[in-house]
Amino acid sequence: MAVFPERLAASLAGRQRDGLYRRRVTLESPQGPVVRLAGRQYLNFCSNDYLGLAAHPQVVEALRRAALEYGVGSGASHLVCGHSAPHRELEEALADFTGRPRALLFSSGYMANTGVLGSLLRPGDHVFEDRLNHASLLDGGLHSGARFQRFAHNDLRALGGKLQRAGGPRLVAVDGVFSMDGDTAPLAELAALCREQDAWLMVDDAHGFGVLGERGAGSTEAAGLDSADVPVLMATLGKALGTAGAFVAGSTALIEALVQYARNYIYTTALPPAIAAASLESLRLMREEPWRRAHLARLIERFRRAAVELGLPLMASASAIQPLLVGDARRAVALSEQLKRRGVLLGAIRPPTVPAGTSRLRLTLSAAHTESQVDQLLEHLSVCWADC
Ligand SMILES: *Cc1c(COP(=O)(O)O)cnc(C)c1O
Repeated sequence: MAVFPERLAASLAGRQRDGLYRRRVTLESPQGPVVRLAGRQYLNFCSNDYLGLAAHPQVVEALRRAALEYGVGSGASHLVCGHSAPHRELEEALADFTGRPRALLFSSGYMANTGVLGSLLRPGDHVFEDRLNHASLLDGGLHSGARFQRFAHNDLRALGGKLQRAGGPRLVAVDGVFSMDGDTAPLAELAALCREQDAWLMVDDAHGFGVLGERGAGSTEAAGLDSADVPVLMATLGKALGTAGAFVAGSTALIEALVQYARNYIYTTALPPAIAAASLESLRLMREEPWRRAHLARLIERFRRAAVELGLPLMASASAIQPLLVGDARRAVALSEQLKRRGVLLGAIRPPTVPAGTSRLRLTLSAAHTESQVDQLLEHLSVCWADC
């Protein structure tokens, strides 16, 4: 049967024709404000290494030491014999830091989100998600077996109506910081609505954890919310903490239920223990070096102030994610290619990741950037915007 080869060829050709074809670039250097690819240096404005910890010498050293002590592979899933002392220590530190009784490590954020929704929800329950939630939350809701509804972005009235019309157990899941727009969910209002409607609130804080809040504990800290307001908190370790994996924090019952029932916790190999040890060191640096967050906040302000003066189409984001709305997918790609020729790396985000007609350049700032690097970015942007 030739159906699969033909189908693949046709769909790939279609993507190419629509300017939606995705390609990977191959880095030849560590993550950082300047990276090398194909032998050339680029200013890097597309990583999620918000605090500049992905290649921090102390984090690398923690990984090296743990590898000497524990080896590389964890060897098994957590429930068989892959759970080791560094995993346990990191879980305890994360629970303590987030002010929750327990925390549970997952091998990735994608798995954490689909794992939580898949094991918490039952047929007949309702799950409500913001339309702009991360794909892993949406997929988790969609495949949970519960009745799944999306609501308009940050629209509390729409959500309130849906909650009122639904009976039975209800879960609301949102991103703390939306990954393609950089804006934040109105968490305090959402928590109040969920309390009033007796629904559970789950927050995916992949882009807020380490960046927002007085201590860097994320969107929920910034909104002044505790574990009663947000019973299910998820965040990733691969972004601000610069390592890999994710965690869910909450009550003992929630965490024990995940250990019993979350299939993508149970049936997968545990993260390497050295990654857990490196994450613990990142967490320590994040807590003890608040200057990283403060410097990042200053860079964000500097970028936005200058972008307004240049007339660049900023979106309503106060986070490290700063998209510039382009609209047309081909123009977004042309802009990003021109910037790349000038030595600047940033993302061109197109459908299906974002709605049609809202293609954008997505740039991310990091505490590892200098003011002068941000100024160079702005200069290149202003030239390319005029040309392209
Ligand atoms: C990156 C991301 C995830 C997935 O985390 P991984 O550890 O990369 O799988 C989940 N949610 C959001 C909002 C993200 O940005």
